[in-house]
Amino acid sequence: MEPGARRILVVEDELTIAEAVAARLRAEGFAVDLAHDGPSAVTAFEATEPDLVVLDVMLPGFDGLEVCRRIQSKRPVPVLMVTARADETDLLVGLGVGADDYLTKPFSIRELAARVHALLRRVERATQTDHDESRIVLGDLEIDTTERRVSRAGVAAQLTPMEFDLLVHLARRPRAVQPRERLLAELWSWSDASGTRAVDSHIKALRRKLGADLIRTVHGVGYALEVAK
Ligand code: CA
Repeated sequence: MEPGARRILVVEDELTIAEAVAARLRAEGFAVDLAHDGPSAVTAFEATEPDLVVLDVMLPGFDGLEVCRRIQSKRPVPVLMVTARADETDLLVGLGVGADDYLTKPFSIRELAARVHALLRRVERATQTDHDESRIVLGDLEIDTTERRVSRAGVAAQLTPMEFDLLVHLARRPRAVQPRERLLAELWSWSDASGTRAVDSHIKALRRKLGADLIRTVHGVGYALEVAK
C-alpha cells in the first residue's frame, strides 16, 4: 500500500462477499480492512481510522445500525450501508441512521466501487471548501490560516511553522484520534515510524503554548484535539 492511500473498512459477515469487495477495492488502490461482526467493526474503526466504511446491516453481535451510531459518535465518516432488501433501505432512510448512501443486495462489485468513489469525491469537495475557509474556531481556540495566527481565550500564541501546521491538521478533525504515524506521513512526508518522537516534541510545545488540556494523548495510538463544545 502506498502511503496516503485512502483506507476503507469493510464490515460484512458473509466472507465471500467481504473478500470480493476487499479485492476489488484493493485493486483500485485503497487500503482495506475487514471486520465480520458489530463489536469488531467498532474496534477496527478506532484502530484503522478509515476514510469510509462499507457497512452491512445484518451482523452478528450487534447490527449495522448500532455500528453506524457508535462510529459516527466518535467522528463523522462517510458510510455506505448495505441492506438485504430495498424495503429495508426505505426503512433506514426513514429512520435517518446517518449513512451517506445505501446499496441493496445483491449488488455488483463494480457498482459498489463506483459508489465508494462517488462518496469520497463528495467528501473531498466538502473538505476542500472547508480548507478554503481561513478561520477555524473551536471553543476558545481561534486559528487564522491565512495570516497564520493562533489564539486561545483571546491570548495570541507564537507557534513555529511546524507547530502551526500540526495544530491546523488536528483542528480540521477535532476529537478524532490521529495516529502519530499518520501525522508523520501527512505533515513530514515520512513513510516509516522512526520519527514519531518529532511529533511528540511538537505536541509538547503546542501544549506548553496553548494549554495542556488542548490535546489529548491516546496511548499507543496518537493525539486528538479536545475542545469544549
Ligand atoms: Ca450480513
